[in-house]
Amino acid sequence: MNTPPLATKSAAGQPAVDLDVAALRADFPILGSKVHGGLPLVYFDNAATTQAPRPVIQSIVDTCERHYANVHRGIHTLSEQSTELYENVRQKIRELIGAPAVEQVIFTTGTTASINLVARSWGDANVRAGDEILLTEMEHHANIVPWQQLAARTGAVLRYIPITDDGRLQLETLPRLLSLRTRLVAFTAVSNVLGTINPVREIVRAAHGAGALALVDAAQCVPHQSIDVQVWDCDFLAFSGHKMLGPSGVGVLYGRRELLEAMPPFLGGGSMIRRVTLEGFEPADLPAKFEAGTPPIVGVIGLGVAIDYLNRVGFEAINRHEEKLAVRAHEILSSIPGVRILGPAPPRTAGIVSFVLEGIHAHDVAHRLDRQGIAVRAGHHCAMPLHKRLGVAASTRASFYLYNTAEEVEFLGKAVQEVQRFFRRGRPHARA
Ligand code: PLP
Repeated sequence: MNTPPLATKSAAGQPAVDLDVAALRADFPILGSKVHGGLPLVYFDNAATTQAPRPVIQSIVDTCERHYANVHRGIHTLSEQSTELYENVRQKIRELIGAPAVEQVIFTTGTTASINLVARSWGDANVRAGDEILLTEMEHHANIVPWQQLAARTGAVLRYIPITDDGRLQLETLPRLLSLRTRLVAFTAVSNVLGTINPVREIVRAAHGAGALALVDAAQCVPHQSIDVQVWDCDFLAFSGHKMLGPSGVGVLYGRRELLEAMPPFLGGGSMIRRVTLEGFEPADLPAKFEAGTPPIVGVIGLGVAIDYLNRVGFEAINRHEEKLAVRAHEILSSIPGVRILGPAPPRTAGIVSFVLEGIHAHDVAHRLDRQGIAVRAGHHCAMPLHKRLGVAASTRASFYLYNTAEEVEFLGKAVQEVQRFFRRGRPHARA
């Protein structure tokens, strides 16, 4: 398997801020793709899904060719191999997020599934009519809808931390919004639209101060920066493997042990039981209790390889690289008349830049960028309430990762101007 190049070292042996992006890119076959008859692909849709490097792709092939069998079940060599590979990844994730024990790392199918698990299992058991769940105005639908469903089932009330016009949480409202009825504060560590990085520790502390639990949606955070759930002191944390170089269909829920132990299983079926009779069942211990059925075995093993890859490159170097790209993207886009950027200006943002072009629909912008080889996301990015708050129906989002280059960001600026020229020339039917 390929060993990814490290960030270049400084003279003192400390990781320097610059990644060897050209060497990294060689590990990602898809980045060499040409689109629309020969244009080089510029992949700026990383907040939706990231691309897989060769070691991850190879691990999928290796698992299928040499180690594939169901986990935790068979007393045969292949099953033992796949179980060991699968369980090793739990340990890698424990280390990645600083969890005290592997039993607190639950495999799910993604951030959405992780949050739904908490809403169904913890929520149904603990939330009563009149209790309050505090969210923010910048949440992804995955961290809104499960709570709306819980509220509909229980009679709980949802409240929202408002944002400023430039996309930061108005944390001064916390004392007023938190009450003795608040059971949970569920919030994103990093906005998938604005790139805003929220002060997780501060919000968790405020939640605990009010006697509430704290759930962190870390889908846009774990892939980009090193975190520690014990430092954050959060009660639940959710993220997805496909946003961090891994295969799709795998996610993680971390939970505080005593909470997970007290929570009833969410899905019932194989693997999650200790004993079943015709009259009932006794659930298995953690983490099996929350992993009913056959898990995404190949995907979990691939995620482990993705984590190895990211660790070798180094999260600090990745983070600085993305920040540099975001700073430059802001500079370029904000200098173009008719461009409105959503969210705060760097340096306090992640590698996500969403923008609106005056008079041009976001889908048309994305379509015309695609015609120039640039893949971006357009629409509400699963954050309709946030777009409503900002007074726009949709936006175009460029999101960066370790393999994006400064040249690509420069090209984005030129391509956006080309989009404006195209529509100024009066050709509004670009999508046809
Ligand atoms: N939360 C945030 C902040 C996200 O950006 C996303 C995905 O875009 C999700 C949740 C949902 O992740 P998944 O679709 O992997 O479940």
